[in-house]
Amino acid sequence: MPAITNHEHGISTVDTVYDRPQQTSAHIIVEAGRAAIIDTGTSPGVPRILAALAAKGVPPERVDYVVLTHIHLDHAGGAGLLISQLPNAVLTVHPRGARHMADPSRLVAATTAIYGEETMRRIYGEILPVARGRIVETPHEASVRLAGRELVFLDAPGHARHHVVVLDTRSGHIFAGDTFGLSYRETDRDGMQFVVPTTSPVQWEPDAHHASVDMILARRPGAIYVTHYGQVRDGARLGADLHRLIDAHRELALACRDTGPDRAARLATGVRDIVLGEAARQRWPLPREATLALFGVDIDLNAQGLAAWLDSLG
Ligand SMILES: [Zn+2]
Repeated sequence: MPAITNHEHGISTVDTVYDRPQQTSAHIIVEAGRAAIIDTGTSPGVPRILAALAAKGVPPERVDYVVLTHIHLDHAGGAGLLISQLPNAVLTVHPRGARHMADPSRLVAATTAIYGEETMRRIYGEILPVARGRIVETPHEASVRLAGRELVFLDAPGHARHHVVVLDTRSGHIFAGDTFGLSYRETDRDGMQFVVPTTSPVQWEPDAHHASVDMILARRPGAIYVTHYGQVRDGARLGADLHRLIDAHRELALACRDTGPDRAARLATGVRDIVLGEAARQRWPLPREATLALFGVDIDLNAQGLAAWLDSLG
């Protein structure tokens, strides 16, 4: 039985697992017996989504959409395998991402460059292409209807240029992918949730990221779903924290701009200190070592993303 968290409005979070439980999720919206799946996790996680659909009594032929917030492989790596199991579903993706889902070879190469061969094999498994005819591109303000329930796609660059967030008009909730940061349930304290932005390579842009966070907040969503991990509420408070932490990342990067061969190490130490500083500020209920273990991969990725941003400045 997969780990499913049921929310209001027919929305649920499915744990697709990655390195550990409660790290990476897919979301399912069920409306009048039909379903949309938002983000897919990796190929090895796909059976968890299919089991969750079965547990909800939704047969594979009643899934209409597989929606990608963006094509980073922890969100989209399982899309080809998943859609091969869903005879009537189409895949929605930002126009910049579509060709990489039809031919994932460049995406696989880029991801291997970031994570290495061993992790690629162990975590991502096989990445299947999606037939071009089953891909629907979703430019800004495009929408689809799930049994009449309108899902609107909004361009949300910042974490990645090909990122969309999805507004569910029925609930007013927003599926934010990575745009609204990482919010691991292990850091929750006294019913409060916390966030850390993800600046992973290679398209992080702080100004665009601020603007996309504001775009989400402007809709005043009652809940926001983040891939890492699940539903968050209290968007205004979390959004203010995101803005502050995006600025902290930008300032760190700029301070490391001319540090030569030490740059990567300084960025990694700096991101680690931002995370530990946030843990102290918000009194996360975790010892230091557990905090570093929880964010270990993210600290490395954020540091790599800051380096890529600095390189893009020339
Ligand atoms: Zn991402």
